Amino acid sequence: MAILNIINVNDDKENGTLRKKSRPVEQINARILQLLDDMKDTLRAANGIGLAAPQVGVLRRVVVVDNGEKILELINPEIVKTEGEQTGFEACLSVPGKYGTVKRPMRVTVKALDRNGNEFTVTGEELTARAFCHEIDHLNGVLYTDLASEVLDQSEVEEDE
Ligand code: ZN
Repeated sequence: MAILNIINVNDDKENGTLRKKSRPVEQINARILQLLDDMKDTLRAANGIGLAAPQVGVLRRVVVVDNGEKILELINPEIVKTEGEQTGFEACLSVPGKYGTVKRPMRVTVKALDRNGNEFTVTGEELTARAFCHEIDHLNGVLYTDLASEVLDQSEVEEDE
């Protein structure tokens, strides 16, 4: 078990790792399998819903998403279908202490490779649909803070309440 260091946007210089576009995985080798295992350990330890490889410093198109039943492993994920719309709160393990409101599709279908190299599709709704979009955005160097109408500080909100 290995828990990886999650890059904090405040420590990531301008045009740093979080802002780069990740490259597709061409060969699912031992390094990629280790990365998947470590990303799942890291996601569990952080109590997160999703994690993308660039957040742990690896510019490869690899994402893990906890859909409430299990942690999905998505290699070279692509959104192939979206339906509906939802507006809700979003946060990011790389942007600690903040949250914002982002509009996303209500239902998202993703095509990806599993760890055996087999293509599969998976559909998520609500929070899972949001996580698919959020994590795939990471692979393109996009943070939710780019899309949020407003980014708020969690501590400020708690003080207000
Ligand atoms: Zn994120």
